[in-house]
Amino acid sequence: MNGLMMDMPLTITTIMNFAEKVHANQEIVSVTADNPLHRYTFGDSFKRARQLANALKDLGAKQGDCIATLAWNDYRHLELYYGISCSGMICHTINPRLFEEQLEYIINHAEDQWVFVDVMFVPLLAKMQDKIPHVKGFVVLTDEAHMPESDLRDLHCYETLISDKPDTFDFPELDENLACALCYTSGTTGNPKGVLYSHRSTILHCYAAALPDVFNISVNDTVMPIVPMFHVNGWGNAYSCLMIGSKVVLPGPKMGDGETLCNLINGEKVTKSAGVPTVWMALLQYLDKTGQKVESLESLTVGGAACPVSVMKAFDERYNVWMHNAWGMTEMSPLGTYNSLSKEQKALPEEELDIVRQKAGRPIYGVELKIVDADNNELPWDGESSGAVKVRGPWITNRYFKAEEENIDADGWFETGDVATVDSNSFMNITDRTKDVIKSGGEWISSIELENCAADHPQVAEAAVVGISHPRWTERPLLVVVTHEGETIDPAEMLAWFDGKVATWWVPSDVVFVESLPHTATGKLSKKDIRVQFKDHTWSK
Ligand code: AMP
Repeated sequence: MNGLMMDMPLTITTIMNFAEKVHANQEIVSVTADNPLHRYTFGDSFKRARQLANALKDLGAKQGDCIATLAWNDYRHLELYYGISCSGMICHTINPRLFEEQLEYIINHAEDQWVFVDVMFVPLLAKMQDKIPHVKGFVVLTDEAHMPESDLRDLHCYETLISDKPDTFDFPELDENLACALCYTSGTTGNPKGVLYSHRSTILHCYAAALPDVFNISVNDTVMPIVPMFHVNGWGNAYSCLMIGSKVVLPGPKMGDGETLCNLINGEKVTKSAGVPTVWMALLQYLDKTGQKVESLESLTVGGAACPVSVMKAFDERYNVWMHNAWGMTEMSPLGTYNSLSKEQKALPEEELDIVRQKAGRPIYGVELKIVDADNNELPWDGESSGAVKVRGPWITNRYFKAEEENIDADGWFETGDVATVDSNSFMNITDRTKDVIKSGGEWISSIELENCAADHPQVAEAAVVGISHPRWTERPLLVVVTHEGETIDPAEMLAWFDGKVATWWVPSDVVFVESLPHTATGKLSKKDIRVQFKDHTWSK
């Protein structure tokens, strides 16, 4: 027997309608390239999203079309999120840091019809416009006063485009399974792959993201999403904050600038924020240098890559800000696990707490997670057994955009490519990417654990550990280090830093100092390139 409840589709339009009615006066504050501090309300934002929907219709865009954005986190980008998706079109957020060939590939693969672009990326598109023939035209996210000179075809100014449009629009009734957004994941091999989110998957993810043991956001919070809106929908903040009614602060192009972040936190009384480790390191450096405080700030979410425990402790001890580690990926909308400690964990002695706070945390309801061995046998959650992480759930992909085949196994599980242990408290600890695992003398060594340990050395700015072939041990870990400007470390001292911190046979066999390390477009270490660079390394022992 079916339940006798209303069957209402879970669409992004419902967030817009709800937020406009219930939280119309809540604020959105943005830094943009043309305005150091723009301020308006949810109500104003949705009015403009409807003007945008009218403009898209007049441009000839239809339901199912991909409309691309190449933009930082600000209020116009937010209007695009809603104006596009609620019109039944697909908001294709593009990472502007991708290499030109990748940009060209994904714009063509998605068959984007229009590209909405921040002023600073106009020259990039102008260079490649002949290679992206599906694109009918370009809209620059600015006003007339700041319009750049450009020979881009069918070029519009955003403010002019929407200014004379009505602020009413009859958004279509959409099926909850329709696509609403598209984000390409740029693996280190092959072409980028598109992850196509549905309205339903986005809403369910949004509910989960706001839960107390996840982002824990309330109507009393002021949230500053720093993670780019082009990277997995900004971890869902652009939806959850509006659903909950939290004040939103968007740092625009200044997301990596410690001074801007500090000023926004203090000026707008930001309580929560989310971003990758490098952003928090920049803020920490700025605070330590200037002696400024961030008193309103309660907690930070860090994810996308491992964060050194020294950074977590510095925020806690010097600024009274707790950092929560979160793990996920583009294919997972992105949230999979979140580190929110139980009271028993919080009471652990410092050394044990340092280990626990660094873990990726427990799975969030909605994500089923298991670790498996090479024969796909499920491994116990004993904190020791290390295996490939597989997941399934309503906000996890089962096929890449336009792919012939599904990307899940016969039982419906998606293999994440990460390797982890899970302890008896259900806390996952990521030890590696499957591709980056180091196998020395038949035993696994966690490159992430070694990198975290190296990163805690006061003179180390960034560290990578890769497995390089070794005549005796098949492979041995090689440590590659960038020191802070003007600093040097004696190689023997660097290697001695690991003594007592990791198993003796894990200690890297050598260290090399470099000026900089290669990164992917999402700012992650490109281990593939590091392995190639040092493939012929001659071991000193
Ligand atoms: P992306 O799809 O670009 O978000 O990358 C997802 C990948 O980033 C994951 O599969 C992990 O390898 C890595 N990652 C994400 N969050 C974390 C974290 N908290 N700690 C370590 N690695 C992470």
